[in-house]
Amino acid sequence: MKPYQFCPYCAAPLIVREVAGRERPACDACGFVQFQDPKMAAAVLLTEDNKVLLVRRAVSPRIGYWALPAGFVDPGELPEETAVREVAEETGLEVALGGFMGFARITNPDKPGVLVYFGGHPVGGQLQAQDDVSEARWFSPAGIPWDDLAFSSTRMILESWANGAASAPQSTGENNHV
Ligand SMILES: [Zn+2]
Repeated sequence: MKPYQFCPYCAAPLIVREVAGRERPACDACGFVQFQDPKMAAAVLLTEDNKVLLVRRAVSPRIGYWALPAGFVDPGELPEETAVREVAEETGLEVALGGFMGFARITNPDKPGVLVYFGGHPVGGQLQAQDDVSEARWFSPAGIPWDDLAFSSTRMILESWANGAASAPQSTGENNHV
C-alpha cells in the first residue's frame, strides 16, 4: 500500500515522522498512524512427472510473464487455503499440497510483503488457464522460460527445483519419462 497523504479518519494532511522505530505517515490531529503492514501471498510449486506448472500473467504487474500459480491471502484464510484456491482459480486443477517449502520477499513497492510457497501435485480437474492468467503449461527443467519469468522469487524457486530435479536419480519409477 502506498503511503497515505491525508488521514483516512479526519482528512488532515499526514506528516511523515518516526513512530515505533520507523518513518511513518502520522496524523497530528487525531493520532492515526499508517503502519504499512506486509501483504501475505501464497504460491504452489506444482509438479508432476518431473515437470512444473507455470502460468502466464494476464494482469499487472509483469503482464505476459510466467509465474507460479499464486495470490494474496484473504482475511480469515490460512496460506495453505489460499494456495489451493489460487491453483483452482488460475488453472482449473485440484491440488494436493505436499508441504511448506519456504518464504520469499515480495518486492513490488506498492504491495511489499511475504510469499509463502508450498509443493504440490494435481489430483483432479482439467487444465485450463482462467481468472488472471492467459496460459497454463507444464515445463521440464530444460524448458523453463528463464528470460520470461515474472519475479525474482519465481526464478529463485525454479532454480532450486531445477537443480534438484536435474540431479535426482533417474531410475525411480515408471513415470520418469522426461
Ligand atoms: Zn486524523
